[in-house]
Amino acid sequence: MFRNIFIFFILFTALSLVSCQQKTVDNNKIQLTVSIIPQKYLVTFIAGDKFDIQAMQPIGSNHETYEPAPRDMEKISASKLYLALGALDFEMAWLDRFKASNPAMTVINTSEGIQMISGHHHEDEEADEQQNHGIDPHTWLSPSCMKVQAANISKALSTIDTANASFYNSNLNKFNQTADSVDRLIREKLAGSEGKSILIFHPALAYFARDYNLIQISIEQDGKEPSPAYLAELVKTAKGKNIKAVFISKEFDTRNAEVIALEIKGKVVVFDPMADNWAENMIHLADLIASN
Ligand SMILES: [Zn+2]
Repeated sequence: MFRNIFIFFILFTALSLVSCQQKTVDNNKIQLTVSIIPQKYLVTFIAGDKFDIQAMQPIGSNHETYEPAPRDMEKISASKLYLALGALDFEMAWLDRFKASNPAMTVINTSEGIQMISGHHHEDEEADEQQNHGIDPHTWLSPSCMKVQAANISKALSTIDTANASFYNSNLNKFNQTADSVDRLIREKLAGSEGKSILIFHPALAYFARDYNLIQISIEQDGKEPSPAYLAELVKTAKGKNIKAVFISKEFDTRNAEVIALEIKGKVVVFDPMADNWAENMIHLADLIASN
């Protein structure tokens, strides 16, 4: 009995030591915050284990409707650098507040240098006239745009940690090779699909469509649920183009997509724009488009 308690005590002490050590290691790392999960993939690629990286938006939440919770704001107060995607709704509404709550934090727009696509509409557009609405934020769903972001991230990390600049630069080169092979695979899979129209509920693929010569047709109408008249028009267009698939991001309600799929005798194809393994996810997306 006594021996068991002794062993338990030893184990307990050992576990506490491990957790203390873990904590010490984390505290030694500078914290960075990104906006969404796919950026975490990219920043981890460039930063390796040199930083503690966290995403503002929790897994499973919708990037179009997400609002930072108090526990998300704690990430801001602990961060030295905020790597914004560039044009997300919540960034437009919250970046100034992030800066105010931690004036020592540097804020970088990682999409700087990308030729942004306009014409992406949001439900609250009228309410926020001065904000940067209308700029399409979905730059992470494009290998060419991700390469621009990678270069911006490598530069930002090298600025706050000059001692490891060559490490970040060599990781940047590795990422560029990965993005190039993802791009090659996508082109192989989409060979013969040039000019193909993709009917999609929330128009997240504008940059992807620009890169790979596809046409994105949005079911959402100016960021809102489509009107019956617009739905009827979409069904007519889809039938005319012999479209058999309705694409939808997994965090959206599929009801409207199902109605259209039924009308065109096609099917609903669900994809996940927020997957944490970006490279695999992009190749999977190309497969879905090529086979539907
Ligand atoms: Zn979106």
